[in-house]
Amino acid sequence: SKTVLFKNRPAGKPTISDFELISEETPSPGEGEVLLAARYISVDPYLRGRMRDEESYIEPFKLNHPMESMVVAEVVESRNTNFQKGDHVTGMLQWKELQTSRGNGLNKVDTDLAPLPAFLGVLGLTGLTAYLGLDKIGKLRAGDTLVVSGAAGAVGSVVGQIGKIKGCMVVGIAGSDEKVRHIEEEFGFEKGINYNTAKDLKKAIAEACSDGVDVYFDNVGGEILDAVLANINKDARIINCGAISLYNETEIPVGPRPEGILIKKTALMQGFLVRDHVKDFGPALRQLGAWLKEGELTYDETIVEGFEKLPEAFIGLFEGKNMGKMVVKV
Ligand code: NDP
Repeated sequence: SKTVLFKNRPAGKPTISDFELISEETPSPGEGEVLLAARYISVDPYLRGRMRDEESYIEPFKLNHPMESMVVAEVVESRNTNFQKGDHVTGMLQWKELQTSRGNGLNKVDTDLAPLPAFLGVLGLTGLTAYLGLDKIGKLRAGDTLVVSGAAGAVGSVVGQIGKIKGCMVVGIAGSDEKVRHIEEEFGFEKGINYNTAKDLKKAIAEACSDGVDVYFDNVGGEILDAVLANINKDARIINCGAISLYNETEIPVGPRPEGILIKKTALMQGFLVRDHVKDFGPALRQLGAWLKEGELTYDETIVEGFEKLPEAFIGLFEGKNMGKMVVKV
């Protein structure tokens, strides 16, 4: 059975040599344990933060220990009365093909609801992040102009579609013409902006948002945030969900100071962590599931095949290789 270890704390963008693939003996479950076979493994931008030896809202990874993330696994052997062979579960698990668990933190998934990888995306933490970030901080009103960055990604594509469901004008910012076309044609966003080719991003946002920006769902931070802030309306809401443009920086670049704009526009800018809202997961998942069933919401997945591709898939997030949720199929 294969495992991916964390071998080296990267400076800058992670590389394949920061990880090591090893083979181990197949583990066998003790009394009260289950044996889990990973089926789909999530790779996520925030894992980059855990590669730093810094205090954060989640423990840093330890060198020479397995990586971990959310996984959809199948119970292949059970010595725990709460689980049966054949059950599918999600949980924060190690990057191992096979592992044992006492069942703590595992949630059974209803395989009739959606295909397995969806439980790592639209019906998992990324869908919840989109829904709850908008709900708790965004306070969307019909007619608002909503801007979202990382717009063709896992969180961003759900954010924009919820905006459409709520009757907003949606503008998405993404890194390629293909992604821009996709969010306009498949998701019906009013406008997509390619931040890699826009000559003057601030102006491109002003042109796309003729009534200004009421809500900005920020997945990327940095210069894109600066450009959106220059276009906000009175009482705008800015959701600081992610800052992927900074995750590989060794020195955080200094930009224009936001306080002047925030005061003048009496705007709210608030950090958001999905993990602080566990008590709201149930209703949020029911709503996301209902929209999926009604066809109001769709989703993309970039499925990379092969357990040994985990490091490559993870690094691909920082190169914009994915449309929608990036997962590895074991
Ligand atoms: P995505 O599916 O959006 O994948 C990452 C995307 O980020 C890439 O596809 C790429 O798209 C874009 N990107 C990469 N580098 C840069 C850059 N330098 N500048 C701008 N864009 C870049 O990932 P997720 O949907 O899983 O996560 C989106 C964001 O939300 C992340 O910042 C993540 O950390 C955050 N997040 C926060 C949570 C919370 O609780 N606060 C929970 C979950 C996610 P492109 O081609 O467009 O550049």
